[in-house]
Amino acid sequence: MLVIRADLVDEILAHARRDHPDEACGVVAGPEGSDRPERFIPMLNAARSPTFYEFDSGDLLRLYRDMDSRDEVPVVIYHSHTATEAHPSRTDISYASEPETHYVLVSTRSPALLNGAEREFRSFRIVDGVVTEEDVEVVESYMFAHTGADDVPDNG
Ligand SMILES: [Zn+2]
Repeated sequence: MLVIRADLVDEILAHARRDHPDEACGVVAGPEGSDRPERFIPMLNAARSPTFYEFDSGDLLRLYRDMDSRDEVPVVIYHSHTATEAHPSRTDISYASEPETHYVLVSTRSPALLNGAEREFRSFRIVDGVVTEEDVEVVESYMFAHTGADDVPDNG
């Protein structure tokens, strides 16, 4: 299951609408081992295509260096489909290389999806070419899961 803050869901959907009719893509980074998406990082679709996305290799290198220096991982990798449903394509599946990552797909394929009247926001695990959809729980905050470095554990 993916647990994600509502403001991050809104950011992802807004990015998808902004880049339509091209596919939008990006990452939500979070502390290693937390499974908690925290830092929204919209990326450039270097393909600038309505049917395909790819991260620019230089951008990707900088992103991974930046995440490394913060002890972060790409908890969510998202992209949009602008003409089809929010489900990984064959190409998406073949490129998916992060078994720990939640692959989020959104769609802007209809006017209602494009203007925000409806939303399609789905999450998948992709491991060895096998796609498994998972539940998405949208929360206002991670307060019950918060275990930041400045927290002092006092109850065991
Ligand atoms: Zn795709």
